[in-house]
Amino acid sequence: MSDCIFCKIANKEINSDFVYEDDEIIAFKDINPQAPIHILVIPKKHIESIIDLTDEDEMLVGKMYTAVRKIAKKLNIEESGFRLIVNCGKDAGQEVPHLHFHILAGKKLGTKII
Ligand code: 5GP
Ligand code: ZN
Repeated sequence: MSDCIFCKIANKEINSDFVYEDDEIIAFKDINPQAPIHILVIPKKHIESIIDLTDEDEMLVGKMYTAVRKIAKKLNIEESGFRLIVNCGKDAGQEVPHLHFHILAGKKLGTKII
């Protein structure tokens, strides 16, 4: 989608600090990190949120989790651990309407998620 910031990042129209890429997925550092490690994992295809996924996207979502595992290994957080967060819609405060996983890591995270 032409006016979507994450589509522009995926198309390399905007400079970003990429940590992973394959045919369908790309991951980069969050511009406003909430933890020492804060990575966003997105499908290259524009999908607004979890609610907009279709049955055809099942494989793609699986690949997003595989990408998370590979990124965790690459960033050396597979043993120390990380938190995976997906905001969906306005009550969750989703700011960017392009599906993304947040990977948060690099310190002992708080126990609360709300
Ligand atoms: P949401 O609230 O939609 O779940 O999270 C959106 C995330 O995208 C926020 O953590 C925000 O800091 C990040 N973000 C927004 N615009 C940009 C950008 O242009 N580049 C990068 N790297 N991250 C962005
Ligand atoms: Zn998009």
